[in-house]
Amino acid sequence: MLRPSLRRLLPLALTAAPAVGCVGLSGDMEAYSPGSETLEPATSSSPSWDGRPASWAKLIEIEDWLAGSDRRRNERFVGEAELQLAEGRLALSRREVSRLDGDLMTLRLNAAKAGFQRALARSDLDPRQKRRAEKGLQELRSRHDGLYREARRSSGLEIRTRDRWGAKAPVAARLTRRTQPWNRITVHHSAEHSRDQGSQTAPEVADVLRRIQGFQMRERGFGDIGYHFLVDPKGRIWQGRPLEWQGAHSKGPNNVANIGVCLLGHYDLERPTRASLVSLEELVSALGQRHKIPRSRVYGHDHWKATECPGENLSAWLVSYRSKVAPPRTAQ
Ligand SMILES: [Zn+2]
Repeated sequence: MLRPSLRRLLPLALTAAPAVGCVGLSGDMEAYSPGSETLEPATSSSPSWDGRPASWAKLIEIEDWLAGSDRRRNERFVGEAELQLAEGRLALSRREVSRLDGDLMTLRLNAAKAGFQRALARSDLDPRQKRRAEKGLQELRSRHDGLYREARRSSGLEIRTRDRWGAKAPVAARLTRRTQPWNRITVHHSAEHSRDQGSQTAPEVADVLRRIQGFQMRERGFGDIGYHFLVDPKGRIWQGRPLEWQGAHSKGPNNVANIGVCLLGHYDLERPTRASLVSLEELVSALGQRHKIPRSRVYGHDHWKATECPGENLSAWLVSYRSKVAPPRTAQ
């Protein structure tokens, strides 16, 4: 398995700074398990990173050590290196949650998880090291969603603009300008299984969006992609057709004043990811607040016509979303 480069996981401001974020971060490790279980005293052959408090400088050093020629000479430290790297990623992610966006948090937590799993797969871990790896995985299971939500909240609702996916310009002559306030939202699925859409990196999703737009413009004669927003399985939100135009997603007059949101995937055949549902809920709630659309007017495509869309598993989410109590309405 390829190790995602740590540098990719650092906030940009930190990667650019020569003193890579060590200031003020020492002691972070103590909040996590190794602090309370003192590490083996470093011997003369211990790598230089061993036992130091967590900092990005230390993690980069471990990563280089794992990738470098030292590795063969110090094989017995590989498990410890994986553990300290994963523990450090987790500790620093917690510490920096207010500075990360959802994407970066997911990358970091997944990298930490893979590190704990690689450590556990080794036959030379001692029981205490095994417990540390299991404890790390346990914490990831219980805190992943919370950290992701917190990072998302702190970065606000990020909507990737059309230029991020290389959208073709709309053909205005084939579009209908919006003439009245938005008063309903319709949720769709793309009816393509997400396993057929690669590993959901942003460039791969951008490809999928260009394909949907191309198909709808070419084969359906639309003036642009039909949906106003699209959400991918990693929880990224993408801008589709700008809100100045009526959508093309619910057939004829049903499109009037109706915001179209499409979740990429096939939700008769798979379940929506947690990340995509977090984003969908944030997006639909934000649109509802901005345009004063109550939850009871958030529909599935199948409300408007006989169709499988948005799939059984996404319809289940809609039922639960609609049944939640709406925030109190304010006087106009
Ligand atoms: Zn649909």
